[in-house]
Formats: sequence, structure tokens, C-alpha cells
Amino acid sequence: MKTYQEWQALRSDIRLHSDAYINGAFTAAQSGETFDCINPTDESLLAKVASCDEADVNLATEAAKAAFKSGVWSEMAPGKRKRILQKWADLLEAHQDELALIDTLDMGKSISEMVNIDVPDSIDCLRWSAECIDKLYGEIAPTNPDNLALISREPLGVVAIITPWNYPLMMVMWKIAPALAAGNSVILKPSEKSPLSALRIAELATQAGVPDGVFNVLPGFGHTAGKALALHHNIGTLAFTGSSRVAGMLMEYAGQSNMKRVWLEAGGKSPCLVFADCKDVQAAAQGAATAIFTNQGEVCIACSRLYVQNSIKDEFMAALLEAAKAYVPGDPLDPATKMGPMVDKAQLDTVTRFIESAIADGATLALGGVPDYQAGKGYYAKPTIFTDANHEMEFVREEIFGPVLAVMGFDTEEEAIALANDSKYGLGASVWTNDLGRAHRVSRRLESGMVWVNTWGDGDTTVPFGGVKASGNGRDKSWHALEKYTEIKNTWISLK
Ligand code: NAD
Repeated sequence: MKTYQEWQALRSDIRLHSDAYINGAFTAAQSGETFDCINPTDESLLAKVASCDEADVNLATEAAKAAFKSGVWSEMAPGKRKRILQKWADLLEAHQDELALIDTLDMGKSISEMVNIDVPDSIDCLRWSAECIDKLYGEIAPTNPDNLALISREPLGVVAIITPWNYPLMMVMWKIAPALAAGNSVILKPSEKSPLSALRIAELATQAGVPDGVFNVLPGFGHTAGKALALHHNIGTLAFTGSSRVAGMLMEYAGQSNMKRVWLEAGGKSPCLVFADCKDVQAAAQGAATAIFTNQGEVCIACSRLYVQNSIKDEFMAALLEAAKAYVPGDPLDPATKMGPMVDKAQLDTVTRFIESAIADGATLALGGVPDYQAGKGYYAKPTIFTDANHEMEFVREEIFGPVLAVMGFDTEEEAIALANDSKYGLGASVWTNDLGRAHRVSRRLESGMVWVNTWGDGDTTVPFGGVKASGNGRDKSWHALEKYTEIKNTWISLK
């Protein structure tokens, strides 16, 4: 791992791309418009980025459709497609420090996390998806002997992908890797708050041999580029990660246009349940602190609702406050920093508003509080913990997407499950217990796409990631992500 000084030196060496990437080339937005990409750590301007809209969407869609129809990628032998994607993964690996730095500058997440988690995870996802694609066999249905029915998987066509800013490279890769591996053409609209790494990897894709028009990147806003993609008639599938509010709008856009298939990975308000029989209270407290303060709480699976069995609540709270001391907001380019600034002023304002509402609603502040924002010094929030919270309070019900934790108590297993499930969301849940039977019982009954027992947030490319209820309908990673980007066809042949 490089030192703080080495990362700062590398910063002056890297060139940031700011144009859209369409048909294998960087291109300014048709309108000539740009938006400012700001470093949240010092509020300096990083780049003026092409602000794409419907005209650019039309251009990219034509290029992507032409590439798909030509068969240059969609009909390429899977083994060959795999080798190109593997070469792309090699190039990403060769540029891993640069990619880590770009995301840290762009959205303020810790460089250590970028180096240890986001970049290796993204490369692994690409390699894994590439490796799967020449192992995707079709089926023969067990029909009567007079017929032969083939069930085959085909690429979908042009896939639009819309991503959020909290794990810029990783959220992009979890979607583009399986979509491209399956032979689709892709148009990616990264978040306007963190578009830079997507532009760099597009250039490297071309270098690896991904044909022109197969992978296009349109930076821009949701209500312009995003909406135009979601309403476009030449896009058959839309894969989205972001808030539940926008996820709902995308379903409407699909209904208003061509009934495109819409895969949604949306928001969360994940619970963490700590039972008195957990093996190690210190470990549980550290896990709970990690689950809310990692990435400044800008994590879809952040456990922002913590339920502790009342018999250990005092002991647990003391351990939790101790564990929280590891999260001191600082410059994310310093490898020792575990918590950087919020992505922008709007997000900092959201966090501030929820902290104020928690205080107004009568929750007791145990740590942190309203941010001390000073213009030009970065959008820093404080690790914040409230006790005496309840489900009537807005900050307990709504996703904050910041480092704000609500701690509540419970007496029985039944009560803990009821509280955990009392949410419109159902993304992740963390359960701390040393009782094997309880671990299984509780996991089964949690309304949640993912459950972690005696840990939080772990996983690799082999396991699916996604939620239920207002947290969405799709899954990233694993075999299930590949299913999302292929169409099933059955061909019935009469042998008579
Ligand atoms: P967001 O919904 O505001 O934006 C996500 C993307 O949608 C951005 O690219 C944005 O430009 C685009 N968009 C916004 N309005 C649009 C519109 N009308 N039409 C089309 N596109 C539009 O979310 P965000 O603030 O970028 O990200 C935070 C959210 O993402 C949180 O709710 C978080 O929980 C969620 N998230 C979920 C997962 C998951 O896997 N479930 C992972 C990461 C983040």
C-alpha cells in the first residue's frame, strides 16, 4: 500500500477523462453542456464532465444496437469473448492504483477500502463473469420422443445500466461484467456524483479488444440521460442500482414505453440484532460499528437500526462507543483514514436534517451530532449514535445513507424479529448469536435478501447480492446475475 505522500504525488500524475464514451471514442455531449465534478474532501473542481441528454442517448443507442446486430460481440464464440474480458481484467489490474485514486478523489471514500475491497472485488467480478460464459450450457426438455425441444440462453440486446455513487467502480462492474459476458451491448449511465472511473475503464475495454459500440458510457443527470434511457424503445432491459424512489420511477417509465425488463437493486434500512448469547460482546460491537460507519454510512446494507437484547444493553453500549472511536473522519487519501467526507453538500445536508429530526423527536444523542461544516474544508459528518429511539421516529424508518445509528432494545427473539421486519425495506440483516438453532430460526424469518450471522457485509462474487420489498427485485453477482442478462428461448422441433 502506498503512503499518504505517494498517493498525493500520484494524484498530480493522473489524467481524468471527462467526455462521454460512445462507439469506442470519447465525445463531448451533443449540447456541449458539462457539469462540475467536485472532490468532496477539499471541494476543488476535478473535471468538467459531459452532461449527456436524450440526443446522446439516441447516438449511443444507435451505436449499441448496430454493434449488437452486427454480431461482432453478441455472436462471438463465448471462449473468445472470455479472453477479451480477461485481458480487460488484466488491464484493470495493471491500473489498479489509478482506479483506486480516481474513486477516492471523486466520492471521498477511503483509499484503503478502494485498494483492499472495491478494486480487487471489481476485477474478480469481471474475471468470474468472463469465466462463466463458456460454461453456460443449454437444455433439452424431456418431451415425448416425437419431438426435440431445445432451451437456449441468448443475449438480450441493448442493456441500459444506471448506477449510484457510493461504490462507483464496484457497482458498475457488478452489472456490466455479467451483461457484457452474456453478449449484450451496454450503455452505462454512472452517477453524476462519481462518473470518472467508468470513463477510464471504458477506454481500457477498447484497449482489451471489446468492439466499438459494445460498451458506451454516458455521464449525465438522472432526469436527462437516465430518464431518456429508461424511456427508450430500443432498450430491452434496464438494470439499476440506486434509491427506491428512483427505482419506482423506472418501473413507470418502462410501462410508459416498451415494457422493458427492469432489474432493481434499491435502498435499505438494515437491522442488526444482537442477542445476549452472542459469543463475544466486543466483537459484536465492533461488527455493529463497522456496519454503520464503513464508507461514511453511504452503504446500501448499512445496519442503521441496531437492536440489542436488554439484558446486555449497557455492556454492549459501552463496547459500541469504544469501537466507534476507530472512525475519525479524515482525508481519505491517508491509508489510515477509515471515514472520509460525505459525497457532496446535498448528502451532508440530508444527514444533518435527519440528525436534527432525531433530536426533535426525543432520541438521546450518545455520540457525534450535527456536522460542523466549514465551507471549503470538505463535507464531513460525524459518526453519530442515538439511543432511546423507536419506530415512530423518521430517522428510524427512512434510509439516511450516512453515519447515523439508532439503538433500540428488545427482550425476546419474537420481538427482535418483529422489529427487524417492521420496515418497507428488506436488503440485509446482521444477527449476532452463539446459538446455532437461533441463527437459523431468525435468518429464515427475516424479510431480507441477505443475512449475515456473526459478521456483516461479507461475501464474494459467488453469492448473490440484492433485496426484497422496497429494496428491489434483482440480484448482482453469482450465477443469478448472468441469468438476468440472458433471454430463455425454446425451440420445439417435430421429429415426425
Ligand atoms: P439515486 O436513486 O438518486 O440515483 C441512482 C442513479 O439513478 C444515478 O445514476 C442517478 O443519476 C439516476 N437517476 C436519478 N433520477 C433518475 C430518473 N428520473 N431516471 C433515470 N435515472 C435516474 O441513488 P444514489 O443517491 O445515487 O445512491 C444511493 C442509493 O442507492 C441508496 O438508496 C442506496 O441504498 C442505493 N444502493 C443500493 C444498492 C443495492 O445493491 N441494493 C447498492 C448501492 C446503493
